[in-house]
Amino acid sequence: MKVQEVVNNLKCRFPNEPEYIQAVTEVLESIEEVYNLHPEFERVNLVERLCIPDRIFSFRVTWVDDKGRVQTNMAYRVQHNNTIGPYKGGIRFHSSVNPSILKFLAFEQTFKNSLTTLPMGGGKGGSDFSPRGKSNAEVMRFCQAFILELWRHIGPDTDVPAGDIGVGGREVAYMYGMYRKLARENTGTFTGKGIEFGGSLVRPEATGYGNIYFLLEMLKTKGISIEGKRCLVSGSGNVAQYTCEKLIQLGAIPVTLSDSDGYIYDPDGITKEKLDYVMELKNIERGRIREYAEKYNCKYVAGGRVWSETGDIALPSATQNELNEDDAIRLVKSGCIAVSEGANMPSTPEAVAVFQEAKMLYAPGKAANAGGVATSGLEMTQNSMRLSWTREEVDEKLKRIMKDIHEQCVKYGKTSDDYIDYVKGANVAGFMKVAKAMLAQGII
Ligand code: NDP
Repeated sequence: MKVQEVVNNLKCRFPNEPEYIQAVTEVLESIEEVYNLHPEFERVNLVERLCIPDRIFSFRVTWVDDKGRVQTNMAYRVQHNNTIGPYKGGIRFHSSVNPSILKFLAFEQTFKNSLTTLPMGGGKGGSDFSPRGKSNAEVMRFCQAFILELWRHIGPDTDVPAGDIGVGGREVAYMYGMYRKLARENTGTFTGKGIEFGGSLVRPEATGYGNIYFLLEMLKTKGISIEGKRCLVSGSGNVAQYTCEKLIQLGAIPVTLSDSDGYIYDPDGITKEKLDYVMELKNIERGRIREYAEKYNCKYVAGGRVWSETGDIALPSATQNELNEDDAIRLVKSGCIAVSEGANMPSTPEAVAVFQEAKMLYAPGKAANAGGVATSGLEMTQNSMRLSWTREEVDEKLKRIMKDIHEQCVKYGKTSDDYIDYVKGANVAGFMKVAKAMLAQGII
């Protein structure tokens, strides 16, 4: 395989899909060496089959808003690869959603799911519908209309969606309710469900907690304690909130949060009490992070990004490409020791190069945020068994999985000077399992 040739070919076929090309390029560059040690992969054109999704459903969603106006949105489900298990990946509701973003997410998800050690393939879906500013009734009608089309293509052993940006417990519940009614079955086709109807304990916390468990493993390799470390967290949604919760439990000090309008910097640290306020503000009142600064009298920077502040650890937890080269240079210069990605592909390729050049502890989302989907896998297992595990059991399994993922990254990513290239480690480990399974199953 020659990476540039493959990428150029994909660019010609999918010219308007920059995020997809970015994700594919990053993975191919890091697996090139290993891939080329296996001529049997090249003989069956494995690379192209692995980069191009199995199928994409695209459909119109029509719904009625509170004023009685008929609205339409576009929606998609990308079923990327199901060689090692049913398609699995979240649903995103955000005005920016398009095929390129969903293809990049589904591609990444395939390797991430492989890394979790659980039998799950990769997929992703979503719509350009934005829940922001919509009433509960509007969100419900949209979710129902979305499922009216999608339900035929998903199922407990075919494709199991979950949440992502703009899709939390409320949206999953509305979608699952409609799915259950149409499919006339109750087998847990969604994960991230409410605890009363098949959800797993610790699933809401899992992505943020998992990211910190992974960070602890990275810090351990350098003998560094997390206690007292000042942490820059971006976003203020599900991942950011539970990242902060775990940091606080471990004696670290989160000092920032953000949303798409701006960020807050609280030099005294975000305490448990302040975090409870953020959860109420964001999950129930659906307000803006600016209100935190007004309540606690701290700095708010409209339109700014948290990376302008100084911290020991950076935890990007909002969205793709939210941390660029300049941000990365500033972080390195100001003494930041670790970056662990809660979001998917939040650092641009140039930013990643800066972190790696500086030999920083840097974990890509594929490894660091895999705790979310791993716990979704545990939810699927509990649904299949018709049993529920305790909080301690799930949390213990999550810790074990994050430790395993870290071990795989070390195994495949350690360089000759003892630096751990977590990007290479995660990509090679995730890739090898899917590639071997595809090879074994023949040309299909
Ligand atoms: P939420 O919708 O709960 O929160 C997203 C947060 O990011 C919000 O604060 C939002 O602000 C902000 N944000 C979204 N888009 C932008 C943007 N374009 N610019 C600036 N800020 C933005 O989503 P999650 O917390 O679930 O997801 C966050 C990230 O983590 C995503 O990359 C997601 O793919 C990834 N992830 C999530 C998992 C999960 O289990 N939920 C699992 C693995 C990865 P605003 O409210 O203004 O839109």
